[in-house]
Amino acid sequence: MTDTKELDSKYIAKTYARFPLEIVSGKGSVLTDEKGKKYIDLGTGIAVNIFGMCDDEWIEAVTEQLSKFQHTSNLYYSRPCAELAELLCEKTGMKKVFFGNSGAEANECAIKAARKYAAEKKGAVYSTIITLKNSFHGRTVTTLAATGQDVFHKDFLPLTDGFDYAEANNIGDLREKVSQNKTAAIMFEAVQGEGGVNPLDKDFVEEMAKIAKEQDILLIADEVQIGNGRSGMLYGYMNYGITPDIVTTAKGIGGGLPIGIAMLGERVQDVFGYGSHGSTFGGNPAAAAGALSILKRIDDKLLSEVKAKSDYIVNELSGAKGIKSVSGMGLMLGIETERDSTEVLNECMEKGVLVLKAKTKIRLLPALNIPMEELKRAIEILKRVCAS
Ligand SMILES: *Cc1c(COP(=O)(O)O)cnc(C)c1O
Repeated sequence: MTDTKELDSKYIAKTYARFPLEIVSGKGSVLTDEKGKKYIDLGTGIAVNIFGMCDDEWIEAVTEQLSKFQHTSNLYYSRPCAELAELLCEKTGMKKVFFGNSGAEANECAIKAARKYAAEKKGAVYSTIITLKNSFHGRTVTTLAATGQDVFHKDFLPLTDGFDYAEANNIGDLREKVSQNKTAAIMFEAVQGEGGVNPLDKDFVEEMAKIAKEQDILLIADEVQIGNGRSGMLYGYMNYGITPDIVTTAKGIGGGLPIGIAMLGERVQDVFGYGSHGSTFGGNPAAAAGALSILKRIDDKLLSEVKAKSDYIVNELSGAKGIKSVSGMGLMLGIETERDSTEVLNECMEKGVLVLKAKTKIRLLPALNIPMEELKRAIEILKRVCAS
């Protein structure tokens, strides 16, 4: 049998520089590679496996649905996606839900909803979406345009028109960008993930919400990474006491199967009419049944566990040898290290701990239910590597 690495490099497009590691199985927060070596996972497939690998309840929800029917198309009703939409609306106060398959697709939906709403309400020239510098909103041509980082843009120009970028945590700049454009919406991540695990300031978010309200501009919260319990609240924006008009999410709520969700609030709930948007796989019954089982379990008890584990990590790492700073919220943390972060990541992997990077920081996105014992062991190893 040909080695997986050989097959991969021969036949798969070179978009991913992979680590020399093949995961063959896992349970909870422990993964096993092809040689039988075990790793404590602090990355969860980039904030996806929020209850760890092969979680029993999630598997049961998905397989039960799979044994009934796996897909129907959106021409017919199906129970899991209706129930998931109901629970999302109950837990957030949003009014209507659109299902797609990824974070990018959720954001595409949000952008389309905002443009259609603004065009109908204020006129078609009100099409600009203001996003923040250093943001990340996806890899499609339009969500790349929304992403406020030139490095992602450069090879794919021209991107979709009608985006402008304001500096995060600079309310003057945001005001200026809003006034320079015919603005439909402002889109933000409560904690910028790919941009370096930087939470927005409370003042900035409150002012942003005020500007949006005053000028009838929609507020779009991209909760693809920080959402679904990771921040210590169900959604990251909830930490700021604001109410967005549109909330997008993906990653963690799928528990490992692809799903993307755009939730539409009061003002925009009826923006789409029949045929104005769609997705073949969107609301797939197996993915939706899994997501429903996940969402049901993000309760107050779990959220207080998230906060306690976050406090533990922050306390252990802040001021520790070789660590310059710790940023983030809940179980989405960025660590600025004295050593080169790629070296830290590789050495942690050698020692059986998987971490991620965000820009030049080490990024931690552990399972929300990671057992305390495993978390302690992993943080101990990370500390030792940073100090060496
Ligand atoms: C990962 C991510 C996306 C894109 O999600 P995909 O599922 O990869 O399309 C969008 N926004 C944020 C904040 C993300 O972290």
